[in-house]
Amino acid sequence: MTDVWGDLDSLAVHAGREDLAELGIHALPIDLSTTNPLPDIARGGDSYESLATGGRPLPDGGSVYARLWNPTVARFESALAQLERADEAVAFSSGMAAMTAAISAFASSRDARHVVAVRPLYGGTDHLLASGAVAGVEVTFCAESEVRASMRTDTVLVVVETPANPTLELVDIAGVVDSAGGVPVLVDNTFATPVLQNPLSHGAAMSLHSATKYIGGHGDVVAGVIACGAADAQRLRQVRAITGGVLHPLAAYLAHRGLGTLPVRIRAQQSSAATIATWLVEQAAVERVYYPGLDGDPRGLLSSQLRGTGAMLAVSLAGGYQAAVRLTSSVRLFTHAVSLGGIDSLIQHPAALTHRPVSAEARPPENLVRLSIGLESTRDLIEDLDRGLR
Ligand code: PLP
Repeated sequence: MTDVWGDLDSLAVHAGREDLAELGIHALPIDLSTTNPLPDIARGGDSYESLATGGRPLPDGGSVYARLWNPTVARFESALAQLERADEAVAFSSGMAAMTAAISAFASSRDARHVVAVRPLYGGTDHLLASGAVAGVEVTFCAESEVRASMRTDTVLVVVETPANPTLELVDIAGVVDSAGGVPVLVDNTFATPVLQNPLSHGAAMSLHSATKYIGGHGDVVAGVIACGAADAQRLRQVRAITGGVLHPLAAYLAHRGLGTLPVRIRAQQSSAATIATWLVEQAAVERVYYPGLDGDPRGLLSSQLRGTGAMLAVSLAGGYQAAVRLTSSVRLFTHAVSLGGIDSLIQHPAALTHRPVSAEARPPENLVRLSIGLESTRDLIEDLDRGLR
């Protein structure tokens, strides 16, 4: 099967659909059951026990209850795991639910609850870690170069994001894994997607996605997923069963459907973003363009880790905050809105919105706007930005 579908484009279309022909159906099936008939008390009870501790349904015991297991969600998880070259994947009701579950799963011991987090991070992740919302967790925020020095004997998890939101910094995953010295490293892979980067191949324990973004791809589903090894998947499923951040099957269907076109969308959106980034560099109104590779890729991460430059970029504007206000309010083809990774282009001001909760010293500058490049014509998008900048 791997020989036939090993190529990413084919895998993206077929993963998680292996048994459909046998079932006599062609589209992904959706099971909306909240509860499932039990064969008898003993076997139903054994299956419950397996599921509540993060295992799978027992073959003769049924899947019991939708907070514990759902076959439509499991199909999406299987597909995503294949694309991430991971043993398993666990899906959640949002990217933040996934991040919360990962922190809870690893910081569950009373004596070891220290997390190292490499900035910059998505504002919501930064906020989650800084706010103490996951009770008892102590966080050290640091730069990539400070990971080794930030590790403690009670460190249970290292969190990084690459490319990072919103300024597209690239983090050397293998380098962080080395500095973490055996402590699991979670990589937020939302910007790259499995098409451009597989963090587990570089030693990370977990690859997290806000599937709300490129995976869903059409701005109509909120979802999160973590690809990882089997033992970590069991821990994550246990936390999910206990805390209830499950993905709804209709959302799993939409996220799974998005996977089929993911490689094609990423290639097309990336090609447009690269052209737009090069054009922006030449504009007098632009102070700096943030896009992978524009700095010449001094650490070679674009060949060793990231298979492309992606479709996200950011610009700082010479005219400061007022120029950002003018640009976001004068574009017509770009929508002024948060979120990213869909088929239509979006523009937003991180300091005021996505990164608003981040502490002042780590917040993006006031003259920075972030662009998510969609599938519109590159020429039309450049015309739109040109009008906005002038
Ligand atoms: N990670 C990144 C990089 C994000 O950009 C976001 C949301 O913008 C999240 C995680 C959180 O995902 P969600 O909004 O699905 O909870």
